[in-house]
Amino acid sequence: MTSDESVERYHRQVLLPVIGTSGQQRLRRGRVCVLGVGALGTHVAMLLARAGVGFLRLVDRDVLEWTNLQRQVLYEEADVEAALPKAVAAARALERMNRDVSIEPVVIDVDATSIVPLIADVDVVVDGSDNFELRYLLNDAALELNKPWIYGGAIGTLGTTFTVIPGETACLRCLFPEPPPAGSVPTCDTAGVLGPAAALVGALQASEAIKLLVGAWSACNRTLMTVDLWTLEIARVTARRRPDCPACALGERRFLYERAPSRTVALCGRDAVQVVVHPRVEIDLALLAQRLAPLGEVRYNPYLIRFRADGYELTVFPDGRAIVRGTTDPAVARALYARYIGM
Ligand SMILES: [Zn+2]
Repeated sequence: MTSDESVERYHRQVLLPVIGTSGQQRLRRGRVCVLGVGALGTHVAMLLARAGVGFLRLVDRDVLEWTNLQRQVLYEEADVEAALPKAVAAARALERMNRDVSIEPVVIDVDATSIVPLIADVDVVVDGSDNFELRYLLNDAALELNKPWIYGGAIGTLGTTFTVIPGETACLRCLFPEPPPAGSVPTCDTAGVLGPAAALVGALQASEAIKLLVGAWSACNRTLMTVDLWTLEIARVTARRRPDCPACALGERRFLYERAPSRTVALCGRDAVQVVVHPRVEIDLALLAQRLAPLGEVRYNPYLIRFRADGYELTVFPDGRAIVRGTTDPAVARALYARYIGM
């Protein structure tokens, strides 16, 4: 892109006294990791790409489904029909919006073994996840690496956000020392979500990321902010650092270092179980597709295989991870994995 185009493209943003030419240059050098490109993450990634943030790493474990299109703005019907991973489809959409931005899609289930390299070389991490397991892991990893991160959540008609700057603001565990027990909090699979609630939180997270990137840290949100888009009530609770916070005060990194090496988890509300194998393996998708073809219906693209047999559907990724649909029983999922893919 020529410098004339660039000047014109960012003109309205450079006009802002809080950004200006130097802020725009900082955005250009800025590096952001968006963990989860669902409802929140697609809005965040789109706003940051349009703003000219130089590098975006988009991390997501999921493959597009029809239910995503209601609120996940970067995706189109054809992406669902092609069974594209979200990270790949998001990267394609953003590349069409701004060729200045370098975009790295990563299709992976983020866990304690993979999170550090994903966030070590960025300036800001944005939480676009849909689960507390990942947020507590991110909180530990971000404190350990001294990276600011921006919490976001949208459920029903409510949106919530706060910003964590290690050493300066409260962290997730200052506010909520322990994760909620599994199944105790509503998820968007069970409670639904209003698209604009996710859009609002995504916009708030993107503006926090922009503030962090241009160095306007003092302008960042230091409250736990909740907005109900239906009643239009806004609650802002000052987020105070706790002197006895296990994570940011006492240095405990339980979620980062004390993890089971291998796991099989039911995916909430989706009649599906995810099987993750450790150490990761490398699966030749073409070869596996050939092997499975006589046993059932097989579809594949460069990112995954989708295999249907016996009323189940297995989606298998090149790193050995699989999503088994048609059961919520981890034992059944592991048995199907062993039968068709091999442990
Ligand atoms: Zn803390």
